[in-house]
Amino acid sequence: MRPEILYSLFADTTRLPGVGPRIAKLLETLAGRSVIDLLWHLPSGIIDRRFNPKIAEAPDDVVATLVVTIGEHRPGRSRKQPYRVSAWDETGEMEIVFFNAKADYISQMLPTGTRCAISGKVEHFNNRLQMTHPDHMVPEAEIQSVMQVEPTYPLTHGLTQKTLRKAITAALPEVPELPEWGNKPFLAMRQFPAWREALMAAHAPGSMADIDPSSLARQRLAYDELLANQLALALVRAHQKRRKGRVLKGDGRLRSKAETALPFKLTNTQTVALADIYGDMGAEERMLRMIQGDVGSGKTVVALLAMLNAVECGAQAALMAPTEILARQHMASMQPLAEAASVRMAVLTGRDKGKSRTELLARIAGGEVDIVVGTHALFQETVAFRDLALAVIDEQHRFGVHQRMSLGEKGAAVDTLVMTATPIPRTLTMTAYGDLDVSRLTEKPPGRQPIDTRTIPLGRLSEVAEAVGRTAASGNKAYWVCPLVEESEKLDVAAAEERFQHLSTLYPGRVGLVHGKMKAAEKDEIMDRFKNGPVDILVATTVIEVGVDVPDATVIVIEHAERFGLAQLHQLRGRVGRGSKASTCLLLYGAPLSETGHARLAVMRETEDGFRIAEEDLNLRGAGEILGTKQSGLPTFRLADLAVHDDLLAAARDDARLVLTNDPDLKGERGDALRVLLYLFERDAAIRYLRGG
Ligand code: ADP
Ligand code: MG
Repeated sequence: MRPEILYSLFADTTRLPGVGPRIAKLLETLAGRSVIDLLWHLPSGIIDRRFNPKIAEAPDDVVATLVVTIGEHRPGRSRKQPYRVSAWDETGEMEIVFFNAKADYISQMLPTGTRCAISGKVEHFNNRLQMTHPDHMVPEAEIQSVMQVEPTYPLTHGLTQKTLRKAITAALPEVPELPEWGNKPFLAMRQFPAWREALMAAHAPGSMADIDPSSLARQRLAYDELLANQLALALVRAHQKRRKGRVLKGDGRLRSKAETALPFKLTNTQTVALADIYGDMGAEERMLRMIQGDVGSGKTVVALLAMLNAVECGAQAALMAPTEILARQHMASMQPLAEAASVRMAVLTGRDKGKSRTELLARIAGGEVDIVVGTHALFQETVAFRDLALAVIDEQHRFGVHQRMSLGEKGAAVDTLVMTATPIPRTLTMTAYGDLDVSRLTEKPPGRQPIDTRTIPLGRLSEVAEAVGRTAASGNKAYWVCPLVEESEKLDVAAAEERFQHLSTLYPGRVGLVHGKMKAAEKDEIMDRFKNGPVDILVATTVIEVGVDVPDATVIVIEHAERFGLAQLHQLRGRVGRGSKASTCLLLYGAPLSETGHARLAVMRETEDGFRIAEEDLNLRGAGEILGTKQSGLPTFRLADLAVHDDLLAAARDDARLVLTNDPDLKGERGDALRVLLYLFERDAAIRYLRGG
C-alpha cells in the first residue's frame, strides 16, 4: 500500500487550482495524470527577465522588463488593426502592441496615467521601441514578481507556457518533506541537496547551468530514480537467489562428441563463456546469465553445449527464439551436432497444429525429447516438460521479463541463459537486469574478413543497382533493405514492393521479396530460395534484422540508412561477412544529412565493433531511443540521462547491493525510507519480494 505521505503527489492533476478536465488532458499527454508526473516534467530552458533597461537603452530583440508610465490607448479601427498603447519613461517613448485585442482586459491591465512594469521581447519598429504582447503586465509595486528568471518547459500542442507554469507552481507547495533514503556519506561527498530541495531547485533555475543534467539538483533527482531502479532489481534478484537451484554437472560425454563434430575450434571467449556457464549450472543457486555476442560471434554453439550439459544430467533444455525463421535456423544448425551426440531434438512453433502438435507435446512431456527449440509457443500452458533444467532465450530484448519468467516456471529450479546479439552498453544492461551476470563474446571466429562499408547518396541508386547485379552474376547473394517509412508497416511494405518491382525488371527471376506482413511459411520459403535457390537478390524490410544466416551473402544495400538507428544498422550489416568471402555494405542516404545522421554513418564506416557502436548509439541518441525503445523491454527514465549519469548508476547499484546485504527486508530506518522511494518511483511491484513485505 502506498504510504500516506505520498497521497498528495499521486493525486490527479485536476486537484490543482486552475486545472480543469481540458488542461488535465493536455498535462496527461505531456507528463502524466498525477501531480508527481507533472513535477517530474523539468524545465528545458529559461527566460531571464532581470534585465531592466530604460527605453532609450533597450537593445533590439531581447527580453527585458521595463517600468513605464502608461499613456493613450488607441484601439485598432478594424479587427485586423492592432491595438496600441503608448508609454514613456524619462528617456523616451515606446508603444505596446496587441493583435486581436480584448480592449477591456488591456485597459484594466494598463490604466492610463499609472506606472506599470511590463516584460517581454522588445524590438525597434520605425525607429521606435515596441513590445508586442507583453508576457507580464503588473503595477510598478509588483515588479519583483516579474523581474525573475523564469523556467520554460517542453510543451504539447494546445498547452501554453503560462498555463503549464501555473500548474507546476501550484503543485510545488504540495511536495512533502520525505525521509532521507540516500546513502548519507555519498550524498555529502557529492554535495547533493535533499530530495525536496532538489525538486524545488530543478523548477527554479537561475541560469542555463541549472538546466544541465550535471547540475547538483538534477543529479540528485537522477540518483534517486536510479536507486529506485537498482533497488527494485536487486530485490527481484535476491528473491530469485533464495529459490533453490539444482546442481547440473554433466560428465561431458555428449559435449565431447559434439565438440569433436564441430568443423572448427572454439574461440577463447566462447571457451571462457562456457566455463562461466558450467560454473553457474554446477552451483546450488539458479543461473541467470546473459551472453552478449555480436552478430556472428558464435552464440549458437555456446547455447548448444550448455544445453548438452543439462541433457548429460538426464534433464531437458529449451531454446526460445523470437521468430519462426530463427527457431528453424537454430534447429538446422544444431541438429547435426545433436545427432553426433545422439541427442533428441524437436522444434515447436505456432505452426505446429492438430495431431502432430499433440504428439510432439506428449513426447516433450514424456521426456522423449531432450532439447526443444521453439518460439513463444513454448510459453503456452499446454506445453509441459518432463524435467526442464535449462531455458535459453535468444534475442532477449524482444521478450518481456514476464515471458522470461514464465519459461522458468516450467521446471523445478530452471537455470536461465539469455543470449543477445544486440550489444547493449553496460549501463543499459545494468538498468534492465541489475546484477545479472554477463559473459561477452568479443572475438569473431577466425577467417572472417572485414566488411567494406561505404556511404553513397541516394541519387546514385541506379549505379548501386548495377553493382548489385554484377555481384549476383558472379555467384554471390545480396540483401537490399528498404527503409522505415514513418513507423508505418504498410508504407514500409509498399516501398519494398516498389523496389522489388524495379529490381525484378532489371534481373528477372532472380529477385525475392520478404516483409513483415507475410505469413511465416511464405517468408521461410523465400528465405530458402535465397539461401539455397535461384534468388540472388533479396529485397526486405527490417524483418531480416535478426539472426538469419546466409554465408554466401556478400553485399548488403541499406536504403535511407540515415533513418535507422546505429544498433539496427549494425545488426543489418552483420547479415554479410559471415563466410570467408570479402563483403560490402552500401549505406544509401538521402541528402542533406542531419548532424546526427552524419555522425551515425561515420561510426558505421569507422568500426565493426558492436560494443563500441552501442556506446556511440547511446551517446548520439540517448538511452531512451536506443534499440527502438518500445519493443526493447529496456526501462526508460524520466530524470536520469544515462549518457551523463552513468557514474550515478554504478553508485546506485553498489548502494542497493549493500543495503540489501545489511537489511535484506528493508526493516530499519533507512529501509523504511527506501520503501517510500520505491513507491515514489512506482517500483512498488518489487516490494512483494520482501519477506513479509
Ligand atoms: P551468432 O552469435 O550471431 O548467433 P552464430 O552462432 O550463428 O552467431 O555463428 C555464426 C557462424 O560462425 C556460424 O556459421 C558458426 O558455425 C560459426 N562459428 C561459430 N563459432 C565458431 C568458431 N569458433 N570458429 C569458426 N566458426 C565459428
Ligand atoms: Mg544467433
